[in-house]
This record gives sequence, C-alpha cells and structure tokens, in this order.
Amino acid sequence: MIFICDVMLGKLSKYLRILGFDTIHITSMAELYRYKKEYSPPIFFTKRRRQKISYSNCTFIESNDVFGQLLEIRDIIKPYIDGKTLMKRCIQCNILLNNTEKDDIEGLVPEFIFHAYSVFRTCPICRKVYWKGSHAEHMEKWIKEIIL
Ligand SMILES: [Zn+2]
Repeated sequence: MIFICDVMLGKLSKYLRILGFDTIHITSMAELYRYKKEYSPPIFFTKRRRQKISYSNCTFIESNDVFGQLLEIRDIIKPYIDGKTLMKRCIQCNILLNNTEKDDIEGLVPEFIFHAYSVFRTCPICRKVYWKGSHAEHMEKWIKEIIL
C-alpha cells in the first residue's frame, strides 16, 4: 500500500515509513496529480481542507499532532500493517533498508552501540545506520498501544 502525505504532514510521512509503508511526501500539488489518473490512486492524506482538491482518494486530517493524526487514519492503515515490515524503511529516503554485517558498520555508529547490538541495517541511499535500540522498543510498544 502506498500513501501520499501533503507538505504539512512531514512527520506523519516518517511515522508511516516506520510502520513500513511506501510513503510519498509531496511538496507541491503538481506532484499529486501524477497519481490522479491511476486506476487505483494511492490514498492522499492532507490538511488542505479549505482548498478544492480534484483527487479522488483524499482523506482530510484534523489533528496537528502526529499521534492524533495516526489515530485519525488508524482504520485506514491498520489492515495493511505487516509486522515483518516495521522499521525496515529509511524514514528519510522511503527506501527499504539493507541488512548489514556488523563488521561493515564499525566506526559508523557510536562504540557502545556497536558493542551493544548485533543487528544493523543501512539505507542504500543516505547510508544512515539503523539498529534495534531502545527507541525501537519504545516504538513497538507505541504501535501496539495506538495502532493495534
Ligand atoms: Zn536513507
């Protein structure tokens, strides 16, 4: 499932990527209309309530807070959440992360992180290194509480 977030929903787009979704964060409406003609256009999340949008698959977001936003779209995204894809996408680049040998990331993460964890992933585009640290546990707990 692909989602599109408007320019005002940057944080939501990152959370959707953490949840594993292919999420496009558009910065102009012209980008959106590229998807308009598709048979099954991606769902577009937007805060542009006052603006007329001629895009068929639109969901308006009220909340200014990302957790409130996730609650608003919970019923839409819930059927597509796959536990196997959680936290496997770069939150910046929206691309799937590569599993990486521990030896290959030595020097790229703080020493205590290198010694404390054994599973690392890297983004093939920006090279950011991800690991399953305390933030991941916090995130999983949060996902279970809010989404599931
Ligand atoms: Zn990246």
